[in-house]
Parts: sequence; C-alpha cells; structure tokens
Amino acid sequence: PAGEGARQTRSTCPYCGVGCGVIIESQGDEITGVRGDPQHPANFGRLCTKGSTLALTASASVTRQTRLLQPMRREHRHEEPKAVSWDQALGFASESFAQIIREHGPDAVGFYISGQLLTEDYYVFNKLAKGLIGTNNVDTNSRLCMSSAVAGYKQTLGADAPPACYDDVSHAQCIFIVGSNTAYAHPILFRRIEDAKAANPALKIIFCDPRRTDTAEIADLYLGIQPGTDVSLFNGMLHIMLWEGWTDAAYIAAHTTGFDALKATVRDYTPDLVAETCGIKKEDLLAAAKLFATSAATLSLYCQGLNQSSSGTAKNAALINLHLATGQIGKPGAGPFSLTGQPNAMGGREVGGLANLLSAHRDLANPGHRAEVAALWGIPSVPETPGKSAVEMFQAAADGEIKALWIACTNPAQSMPDQATVRRAMERAELVIVQEAFATTSSCDYADILLPATTWGEKMGTVTNSERRISRVRSAVPAPGETRHDWAIAVDFAQRLEKLLPGRTASGTSLFPYPPDDEAAGIEAIWNEHRESTRGRDLDITGMSYAMLDAAPQQWPLKTGETTGKARLYEDGIFPTADGKARFVNTAYKPVAEPRESRYPFSMTTGRLRDQWHGMSRTGTLGRLFGHVAEPAVQMNAQDMARRLLKDGDLVHVTSRRGSIVVPLQASPEVAVSQAFIAMHWGEEYLSGQSTNGDTLAGVNALTTSAYCPSSKQPELKHAAVKILKA
Ligand code: SF4
Repeated sequence: PAGEGARQTRSTCPYCGVGCGVIIESQGDEITGVRGDPQHPANFGRLCTKGSTLALTASASVTRQTRLLQPMRREHRHEEPKAVSWDQALGFASESFAQIIREHGPDAVGFYISGQLLTEDYYVFNKLAKGLIGTNNVDTNSRLCMSSAVAGYKQTLGADAPPACYDDVSHAQCIFIVGSNTAYAHPILFRRIEDAKAANPALKIIFCDPRRTDTAEIADLYLGIQPGTDVSLFNGMLHIMLWEGWTDAAYIAAHTTGFDALKATVRDYTPDLVAETCGIKKEDLLAAAKLFATSAATLSLYCQGLNQSSSGTAKNAALINLHLATGQIGKPGAGPFSLTGQPNAMGGREVGGLANLLSAHRDLANPGHRAEVAALWGIPSVPETPGKSAVEMFQAAADGEIKALWIACTNPAQSMPDQATVRRAMERAELVIVQEAFATTSSCDYADILLPATTWGEKMGTVTNSERRISRVRSAVPAPGETRHDWAIAVDFAQRLEKLLPGRTASGTSLFPYPPDDEAAGIEAIWNEHRESTRGRDLDITGMSYAMLDAAPQQWPLKTGETTGKARLYEDGIFPTADGKARFVNTAYKPVAEPRESRYPFSMTTGRLRDQWHGMSRTGTLGRLFGHVAEPAVQMNAQDMARRLLKDGDLVHVTSRRGSIVVPLQASPEVAVSQAFIAMHWGEEYLSGQSTNGDTLAGVNALTTSAYCPSSKQPELKHAAVKILKA
C-alpha cells in the first residue's frame, strides 16, 4: 500500500517504439514501482519484461553505481576524469567549439545524438547545429534504425508518414511480418497480434525472416529467406500477382504513377528464379503472393531486417509497391507499417534531426524549405552543404576533417558498425564531449568532457511512437546529483556559444529563448516553437497543445481547431506528392554488400534478445533480465557444427574482414545452414575482441560492416560475412 507522500505519475516506457504508457509510483526522491497505464492506447495497461522492471533499473542503489552524476573533465586522454563545475565544463566546451569553428569553419564540428532523446531535446540540438553554428553535421542513432523507412516512405508515398495504426492489427485479414522479430522487439504489439489471431482464426499471418525466431510460432506461412534477398522476394510476389490478375488496376490508375516501368522490371523475377535466390520453395512464394493480394485487408509490419541494409530503401519501397499494386492501403487493416526501433526515432524525424532533414519533414536539399526554416528561426540562412550521416561523420573524424564531436544519449563506441573506425575517430578528434545519463558506456572512455544528463523518470517532454502517437513524458522524481536535462544542457551551451560567435542572430536576441533553469516553462516553449514549425506540413500539429496531450496522447496530424488526430492516412487516395499520386519505385534486387564466400563462409546476422535493450546500460543493471539469456553466444545450425566438429559450448573465434571476437558456440534450430547469429547487446564487459590491427574491441560491431544504402545511408548492421573457427 502506498504510504504518505506516495505519488503516481503518468509517463511512457523509454525502450521500444511501441511507446507503452506507464504509471510511475514514487515516494520522495525514489521511484518505487511502475505499471502499465490502462488508459494509454498503445498498451491498455500491458507491459513487457523490460517495461515492467523499469522501477528496479531506476532504484537509488543502481543509480549510485551506474549513473554519471557530476560534470567531469579529462585534461589528458586515458587519464581518470576529474569533477568540475557546470560552469567550468560548459565554459571549456563553448570556448573550444568557438575556437575550432573560427579556425576550421562550422563543418569541423559534429553532433551525434539519439532516438532516445525527447522531441524537445532533439529540436534544440538541431537548431544549435543548423541554426546557430551553421553546420548540418547533426545526425543520430536513428540513422542506424529508421532512415531506410524514412526514404522508402518519401520515395513512394511522398512523406515520412507511417499510414497505419495499431488498431489495424485487429482489422487485418492477412498480416505480413517481415524482417522483424516482433515477439521480442515489440512484445506488446505482438500481444495484439496474438489477440487478433485468437479473435479471428481466419486471419492469416506470413512471417518472413532468415531466422525462424519465436515470431514464427504464430505464422501460417514461414518464408526463411536468405539474408538480404527481400527485394527479390517482393518483386517475385508482384510478378505472380500480375500473372494471376491479382493487382488492383483501378487503384493503380487512379492513385499512382510509374507502374509500367516497375512492371517491365518484375517481368524478370520469375517464380523459379526468385525461389532460388531467396532459398524458399516456389509453392510458398506463390502462397504468400496469393494471401497478400487476395485478402480483404493486408497489413505489413517490418523493422530492421528491411532497414539495416545496403539496399534498405529499395526493400522498403519494394514492399510498399506491393501495397500500392493491390490497393492494400488507406483502409482499415491494410497498409505498410514500419515498426520504430527506438522510443522516439519518430519525434527526431519530425523535428528534422538527421543530417539531410529540416524541421517538420522539410528537406535540406530544397532551397524553399531552407528559406522557410531560416525565417522561422530568424536567421539569414540555413547552410546548404549536406551534413554528414552517422557513418560519414565518424569517418570524417577518423580522417581529421571533423575536429569536435558532441555525443548525446548514445554509445557509438559500441553501437556503430565497424567499431575499429569509430574508436579511431574518437581517439583522433581534438575534442569529444559525451552527454550521458550512464557513466558505464564505452564512449565515456573517449570523452574529454562528460556532461551528466537526466533520464527516464526524471525528465519531461514528448515522444512519438510507431503509429504517429505523441505522448507526454513526465518526471516523477527530481534530477539526481548534478544531472541536468538534455535540452537544458544544449541551451546553456548554445547561449554561451552565441556570445562567442556573434553575427548569426539579430544583436541582443537569443535563438534559444527558453529558460534552462525552469523546466516546465522551458520545455513548453520549445514544444510550442516546434508545433508552429509544422503549420501547413503533412504532420501539422498546430492544434496539439501540452494541455491537450495532458488529457490523452494524440496521433498526428492534428491541426489548429481539430480535437483528435488521424488514425489512418491516405483513406482518400490522395498522397502528399506534387500530383497527389503515390509513386511506384522501380526496385532492382542487389545482394548484400559482403556475400559469404569460401574465406568467410557464414552469413552472420544480428538482432535483439527479448529482455535486453541496446547496449544494456539500463537493462544490464538488473540480474533478473539475464534470466532469459545469461551470456553472449554465436548461434549456428547443428549441421554446420557437426560438419566442422564443433559442439555446444566450444569457444570460437568469429572473424570478419574488420575484426574478431571470441564467444561460446550454441546450436540453434532458429539459424539456417551457412548462417550465424549474434545478439547486438553485449558490450566490452561480456564480449571482447580485436580489430585486424590488434586494437581492443567489443561486441558484435567489431565484425559488422559500415557499407550503407546509397539513398538512406543506413548501414548494413544486419549482415556480415564471417568465418568461425575453434579458439
Ligand atoms: Fe516498453 Fe516496448 Fe515493452 Fe512497451 S513493448 S513495455 S514500449 S519495451
């Protein structure tokens, strides 16, 4: 029973893009419990293992051991950092940034931020880089997560707007899950799929993934394709749909352009060829095409299997092509629906928090959009030079072109592909600032300045989940130690930099008129500025005040005067393109960047575990979350192990062209012959490795490649060719 002074605070879970509502129970400065919010439309009270253990990861004993609680500075690299005051830390940071910008220009600095940040945090960082400093070098770990989905939506439907909603799961007659272990990565959405199946036994579920994961348990049809062959599969399905007359000619004629060119391309994707390329049975290919096209409503759910690929945009576009060709969009239970990996990758996209975007889904490459944002911010111009995407930014730092890196709320020394290059970049940069809640991340070891940030349960703002629903995040307890909110750190720094770099704004005015020491006023002022920037755009949220969000989470768009947002987009068949029509993209299949071959004979894929999150800085603090999987392993098919005289528990070297790790071996029926799987979460405490130069590395990203999709610049974290030899 709650004691005197017990409080309950509505907020959201900080883990995945399902965006479940939580009620935080607290007493004084302590979070004492968490439960699902029965009124939140993302979860109606349910939480998965990660969400339901949030309170334990926020306890005082965990905080004391893992949190960064005061600003720190290293005078020399590889020394222990020493405590400094906020004034000293931000004074040094702003003077160093100003000096580098004066000597080398604004593009000599870069910001690498995070889909874990709240929308308001993101907005300030974007304005700081693009508005004040005059560089577009601001990118985020959302580049590793959703940028192929962004590019896929824009190329086909005209805007980065997922058209479906969670409620569509209960209206669908066919659900096509592809490149997503939904049972583990989006557990509460998976519960909805189970409910839909139980309520409607006629619902057909197709599951397509190289690994036969737990998600396959619910499927009527499993397509175990070879890694990276998705475009061939989708084009092959369209070939069959055309041959069988299952496409919707009336929809194609009325609402789309570009079908003839695609039709000519998919003529070559015969069932025999596609079955062979994908490594599946022809009958299964035919069955999938029939179910998708002829069901009354088909909903596709997809995630990193499509996005984290050197042809990520083509994969997204080829899947959306299927929806357009069959009219499976803009009606209940139908549409392409990208599942967001991180809790606020969507909010970051909304404020333009990527190197190629501007506020409110504007494009940096569009001179009109640059002028609109400059006018909104009251600056002469937004720089035209494209910013560097995540992989490009760290490569530029490794090459000495970028001299200062500001990293906020993310751990690139573990999570970026080709870890050796990323660590070299952080060594070479003249100045590395890490703004973090946790002192335990690998990137902290490279920081000249460490800035302690608040985290879940301590900060306020908003997040957007996969179905375009914006929810309030609220603080239940005060900021511990000397931690400050991410937006407030950025504003304090920006206000100092404005004085050192005069000339970007009208004299005497600040681009950042948000009081950093008044959380409620500051955060709402940022929100209102962001809202105004969306006026007239596809995601217009000018009607969405904090007061409205306090009553209930809302989906965008929601314009001035409206009382609710839109559950589903494109029901009128009109798309946000110049002619109002959706565009077929002429997608051709390209193999993975690094096909397996005789020297590296295994296709290694990566993915999530059920109970861990990203680099484990939060979930790794809790013993019970290791109950499901206790230690790292490389999983292989038993046939491959027998052929190589390997057995369960053997220590093996897993080696790619970039590095090597030593890890125990585990037989798994989920993994197909000639493939291997390693979970993404394990960092240097658990999984040591070496680069080809002998540098110490950790985790699976010692092995992964930074080859990326030419359109989205999202790297192929999902696949690398490796060899596996007994240690
Ligand atoms: Fe949190 Fe995602 Fe689990 Fe919901 S499904 S409780 S958002 S981790």
